[in-house]
Amino acid sequence: MPAKITMSNQQRYSCIMCGRCCRRFHVLLRPAEIDRLKALDWGDEPDVPTDFVVTIHGFPYFRRQPDGGCVFLGQDGACRMHRRFGFDQKALTCRGYPFNIVSTFPGEVSVLARMDCPAVLQNHGTPIREQRRDIEKLVQELRFGDGFSPAQLNGLLRPTVEMIINAARQLLQDVSLTITDCVSCLRALAERTKKLGHTFLNDGNTMQEVMPSLLHSIRSVLDDRSCLDLNATERAYFRQWLCLYWRRDEEVLDRSIKTRLARAAHTAAAIAGFGNARHFGQEHPDLPLRRVQMFNPPQNVLDDDSIWEPYRRFLDVRLECCQFFGPAYYDVSFFTGLEALCLTYPITLAAARCHAAANNRTTLAQDDVNYAVAMLDHCHGRSPALQFKACRQTEQMFIHADRFHRLLFALAKPWKRKT
Ligand code: SF4
Repeated sequence: MPAKITMSNQQRYSCIMCGRCCRRFHVLLRPAEIDRLKALDWGDEPDVPTDFVVTIHGFPYFRRQPDGGCVFLGQDGACRMHRRFGFDQKALTCRGYPFNIVSTFPGEVSVLARMDCPAVLQNHGTPIREQRRDIEKLVQELRFGDGFSPAQLNGLLRPTVEMIINAARQLLQDVSLTITDCVSCLRALAERTKKLGHTFLNDGNTMQEVMPSLLHSIRSVLDDRSCLDLNATERAYFRQWLCLYWRRDEEVLDRSIKTRLARAAHTAAAIAGFGNARHFGQEHPDLPLRRVQMFNPPQNVLDDDSIWEPYRRFLDVRLECCQFFGPAYYDVSFFTGLEALCLTYPITLAAARCHAAANNRTTLAQDDVNYAVAMLDHCHGRSPALQFKACRQTEQMFIHADRFHRLLFALAKPWKRKT
């Protein structure tokens, strides 16, 4: 078992029994636990499912009911296994949700809670650090790698990693910055620290002197607020990338020819600016994409910045738990992961705009951001569809300063058009 378990200090979670996870997710089973679950004594309880395992692409999952719910989900919306035998007897995947437990530094794991769970999104319930006993049991049952490799750390020493993360969190907590400005500064921090190189950054004394002025200077990215708009090709690339976030893991499991053809057709339509997000999953907005002002929000619309609290929390928790690179994000290196984290903002903003449009709004509301953050955190670092090299290439394309600013301009209009 890892010697140290780091948990988010700011997240809360107590299950509100909404049943969403039991309806939306395929529950992966470990071969060893299938026999244990089969041997549970249900007494005279009627209609207990006996044939509850289905194999998909060689892996065993809980069978699902015709409406998509887990075969053990009762008509009252509660888990029958939980009700009869208690939390500890459930499958490991069920006990593990909504936690994301990932190895970080050698002998250490970090734990955060996924924001696709409504209770976590609302930060409802007991602080997760007070659930250490349950989490330790989970950690004991899981297997972990050796933590970040030297390449994933970009040659940075641990104190350097922590120093850059602290600087990033300082920016996030600066309430004088709007979320758009905050993410612009974060991107600039990633770029400038990356340019300094690991030898310079690892010199702790020098960096202690340099960091305050570095943090001050990166705000200069907010001064020149004029830029060009995104061109048609870049918009198509962005829409394709958004489609990958819309594709749910569950849908990806269905690899039949018919589904693949339909998915390809829906993606092609979305890339061209047509189609409908609902085609990628039931929880997505149902509205023709051509009616969404994704890239052209009205110039005079100023969204209320307080609605971005869940998204700021998403970023902050990822930084706090070092879950934005290495094993938590497709094994990419520290700086690539930090850049990818900045690029979650345009994805979230675009998804929120679609949700708002489906509800006949042009300005964003809390519901829109909540939907978008849940969608984002369901996939970020976890989705098989996003693991491909082409996705890293798209990230690299949009992290380039000029294109990143044009992307924000197209989506958020935070500054004026260059003439
Ligand atoms: S989605 Fe979250 S709150 Fe809802 S049942 Fe699952 S764990 Fe509980």
